[in-house]
Amino acid sequence: MRIRLFVLVVIISGITSAGKAQSPVANQWCGYTGKSAWLDWYQMHRDEIVKDRGADTTWLYVPVTVQIVGDNSGNGYFPFENAIRALCEMNENFAVAHIRFYFVPDDAVRYLNNSAWYQHEFSGGSQLINQNKLPNRLNAFVVGDPAGNCGYAWQNAIVLGKNCSGANNTTWTHEAGHHLSLPHPFSGWEGFQWNYAQPAPDEIGGHEVEKTDGSNCYFSGDGFCDTKPDYLNDRWNCNSNKESTILQHDPNGEEFRSDASLYMGYADDNCATRFTEEQIEAMRFNLYDEHESYINQTPPFTEIDDDAVVGLVSPIDSQYVQYNNVTLTWNLIPDAKFYVVEISPLPSFSPRVFYQVFSPPTTSTTVKKGLLNNWNMHWRVRAYNEWDICQPYDNVQIGVFRTKNLTATNDLERLVLAELSPNPVPGGHPAVLNITSDESMDVSMLVADAAGRVCQNQAIRLSPGENSIGIPTDHLSAGFYVVHMHNEKGSFMKRFVVTD
Ligand SMILES: [Zn+2]
Repeated sequence: MRIRLFVLVVIISGITSAGKAQSPVANQWCGYTGKSAWLDWYQMHRDEIVKDRGADTTWLYVPVTVQIVGDNSGNGYFPFENAIRALCEMNENFAVAHIRFYFVPDDAVRYLNNSAWYQHEFSGGSQLINQNKLPNRLNAFVVGDPAGNCGYAWQNAIVLGKNCSGANNTTWTHEAGHHLSLPHPFSGWEGFQWNYAQPAPDEIGGHEVEKTDGSNCYFSGDGFCDTKPDYLNDRWNCNSNKESTILQHDPNGEEFRSDASLYMGYADDNCATRFTEEQIEAMRFNLYDEHESYINQTPPFTEIDDDAVVGLVSPIDSQYVQYNNVTLTWNLIPDAKFYVVEISPLPSFSPRVFYQVFSPPTTSTTVKKGLLNNWNMHWRVRAYNEWDICQPYDNVQIGVFRTKNLTATNDLERLVLAELSPNPVPGGHPAVLNITSDESMDVSMLVADAAGRVCQNQAIRLSPGENSIGIPTDHLSAGFYVVHMHNEKGSFMKRFVVTD
C-alpha cells in the first residue's frame, strides 16, 4: 500500500521534471542526463521499499525492438545478427539480476533510412526517438554516431553507436542500466575537469562528495553505498585488481582507486563485469514501478531444441562452386525465426566474408561478391528466435566448398583470377593487371592491338597470392587492345581500351 502512494508522488514529480528535461552530455563516452526524479525518490525511500518487497527473485522479462538506422540510401546498417549477439551478452550480464531481455514477437527489428538520424546531434536523436519510439517495450536504436557518444539513454529509449556495439562491448548493458534508473558511480562529475592529484572538492553539483570512508554515499555519486567513490569521468583502464590505474584523493586527501568492475562506470569494457546488489534492487523496482508495461507481458518462452541442428543442403563435402555465384541452401528447424548464415575462408569463422540473417520461408541465398577464387570456404547456419537468443557454436554443421572459376576453359584460367583496371585507361597512364594465383609459375604476357600486332611482349614470374603487373600505355595510341597470358597450362586474355 505504501508503495502505491509513492507511485503517485512519482507520477506528479515526473510530470514537473519532464518540462525541464535535461539534454544528455555531448562528446562523452555516454550521454547521460543525470539522476532521474524517480531515482531520487526511490533512494529517499529505499529502506522502506526494500523492507516491503522482501526477498524477490522472480524473473522479470523485458521486450525489446531494435531499430537499425542507415543513411538516406540505407547504407551503414548495424548487422541484425550483431544485435542478436548484443542482446545475448546483455542477458548474460543481467542474469544475476534475474532480468532477461527478448525480442518482441514478429517485431524484433525495424530499419530506418535517414542520414540525419544515422549521424546525429541531440536534436536529431530526439527526433529519431520521438518519431519512432514504440509502446510497451525497450526501444533500442543503433546508429553510426550518437552525438559523439558510444551511446545514451534518453527520453525512455536507448541509442547505441554501432562502433561501440561489438562482441564483449558493455555499451548495451550500460545504457540499459541507465534506462532502468542507474546513474554513473561518478555521477555529478560528468564533464567536470579535475586534477586528481589534488584532494577532491567538498562539494560537486550541489552535493557533498563521496569519501573513501563511505560518508555521503547515500546522496552523492550514484547514491548507492555499495559502489565505492569514483570521480573518473573519462574512459580509463584497469589494473590487475580491477581498479583504476589513476590514483584519486577524496576531500580528506585519502588516496583511492575507482572500482573498474562496474558496468555503470567508465572503465574499459574488458574491466566491467558486474552490477552491485543495490543497483540490482533499484533496477528491479524500477521495472515494477516505471516499466510495468514491459513485465506485464508474457514472453513467448519458446526454446529451440538444443539438439536441433540446421542441416546444410549444399554446397557441402568440398564441392566445387563458381567463386562469384554460390547458392547456399539449408533446411529449416522447428521454432526458429532467424537464420544467421556465415561464410569464412577459415574454420574458425574469423574473418567472415559473408554474414546475413534470413527468416523462414527463405532457405537459400546466392552470394556473388566477396568470395576468393581457389579457396576452401566454410559456412554455417545458426538458428534463433525472439526468445532463444543465445546459441552456442559447438552444435552446428559446418559445410566446406571449394571456389573455382568453372567457366574457365583451361587450367591456367582455372588457377588464376585476373582483373585489369582502370578500363578504359587514359593513354599515358599505366593499366594494372592484378593476378591472384594458386601457385608460382612462369607465364608469357603479350599485348596486341586490334589488328593483332604485338605491341609488348614479356616473361613474368607469378607468385602464390596477389601479383600486380603494370602495363605502360605511353607508346599505345587510342584504341582496342588485348592482353594474352599463356604457358604450358593454358591461356587467357583480357580486353582493354586506351583513350586519348
Ligand atoms: Zn552512461
